[in-house]
Amino acid sequence: MVSIRGNALLGSNLTFTENVTIEVDDEGIIVDISKGKKEADYYLSSSCVIIPGFINAHMHLGDAFLKDHTYGLSLEEAVGPDGVKHSKMKTSNPEEKSESIRNSLELLIQNGYTSFVDFREEGIKGINLLRNELKKYPICGIILGRQTEENTFEEVVKSCDGLGIRDVFALNQEDYTTLSKLKTNDPSILMGIHVSESEEVINESVSKFDKRDIAIVAENTIFDFVVHANYSEEKELKLLSQQNINIVCCPVSSLYFGLKFPPLELIYRNNILFGLGTDNVLSCNPDPFRLMAFTLYSTRANDQDISPKEILKAITVNAGFILKRKIGQLEIGFSGDLLAIDLESFNMKFSRDVYTAITLRADPSDICLQMYKGKVIKWKDQK
Ligand SMILES: [Zn+2]
Repeated sequence: MVSIRGNALLGSNLTFTENVTIEVDDEGIIVDISKGKKEADYYLSSSCVIIPGFINAHMHLGDAFLKDHTYGLSLEEAVGPDGVKHSKMKTSNPEEKSESIRNSLELLIQNGYTSFVDFREEGIKGINLLRNELKKYPICGIILGRQTEENTFEEVVKSCDGLGIRDVFALNQEDYTTLSKLKTNDPSILMGIHVSESEEVINESVSKFDKRDIAIVAENTIFDFVVHANYSEEKELKLLSQQNINIVCCPVSSLYFGLKFPPLELIYRNNILFGLGTDNVLSCNPDPFRLMAFTLYSTRANDQDISPKEILKAITVNAGFILKRKIGQLEIGFSGDLLAIDLESFNMKFSRDVYTAITLRADPSDICLQMYKGKVIKWKDQK
């Protein structure tokens, strides 16, 4: 058992609450949150606030070795089937790939992430490569694999948490039937797919299937969430909302490729949960603070109205709901993954709002305590 005492953002609404003691049991689960004075193992100063650990809801962590190789290229040229990424992946050796994965895991943890979702390429071989590295690091990796010529969907889902489908072009009618069966047999298998990332993708979908890709996905009840939806229209969002399909947006990566900023306000107003991810490490580092600030500034630049608190929820609470895991909240029964942020650091001193301070001004150096499943990863002694 480990206990932490301080101010905290509690529950699904990230409610600011003074002087609570959070207790995490030996299994890494939050078992008590109380307001009375209690002895604790870690005391935080009154300038700190405890928040849930960050969740990176979408990434491809294996392409870190291609950082800056694709700057200035289009999406297709960089990460399309015949683009730079996949041609380099074919020729790179397992050690280079593992080194790339380790670099990404180090970055994730250093920046305050306690969970991430990887759309894993290269079938079971790719899944095992990540698993071998992941076991050495204090972070929860949710692995969504991909079918290959060697590995069927059935084989892939047995060795990971679900499927991260490339796009609608990667599926035929028979595949939809297979996925539907898999999902019916085991609803806990997570299923996600990239949609409407670029206009080219939508045009290709219309010419091949006579329908926009997001409309095809919304007709299927198999998907838990879609990734991107940069070019989605309100009628499509209404369809997704009816099917309880949520959305993970990756605004930094999309703008790196010169694509449109996602319609976050419309997504929010249509009662769809949105999470945030950093996508390919080749396009941007997995840094939750940059991601939050960039997203907020971009909503302003795109005449959208989203509050700083909603942005903070997107990388904590919402992501937990989207992934159907007990993560992303300081709540009894949830994983003991948390951060304490010092609001009196030079970055945030004088700010009048905790949510705006964390989303727009904080950086990894302001993390004074980091815990994963109740284990201390970082602790800057307050005394
Ligand atoms: Zn992606």
